[in-house]
Amino acid sequence: MGKHYVVLSFFKANKINYYFDSNRMTIVFPCPYCWEQTKMNAITSEWTCNNCNQIGNLLTLIQVNKEDPIKTKVAVYNPKKERLQINYLFDKMLDLQNNTNSKSTLLKLKNKVNDLIEYYENSV
Ligand SMILES: [Zn+2]
Repeated sequence: MGKHYVVLSFFKANKINYYFDSNRMTIVFPCPYCWEQTKMNAITSEWTCNNCNQIGNLLTLIQVNKEDPIKTKVAVYNPKKERLQINYLFDKMLDLQNNTNSKSTLLKLKNKVNDLIEYYENSV
């Protein structure tokens, strides 16, 4: 079992919002000191906050969270959810098109956006 499962279960158990990027093996979560979005190395559990310059690992997180629980409502950008929402909006717009040309242009745009996202996902 990878160490990242231990980290992820900490976030789950404490109901802290996070996003796990399995391609980059990083976890995005709210910094325990300033609650700004921070990135953690999922393998080493080490993180550095670009906002307040605090550093730590899972143990630091557990300790700080005990004294001053991380807000559970801090929003974390989730690219997978964003992509679903973008495609949902595209489909909604496609349904609204009465003109065949604009419908095919919109469909092309939707496919190009998704191709671009896949290109960046695979270029890790
Ligand atoms: Zn911070």
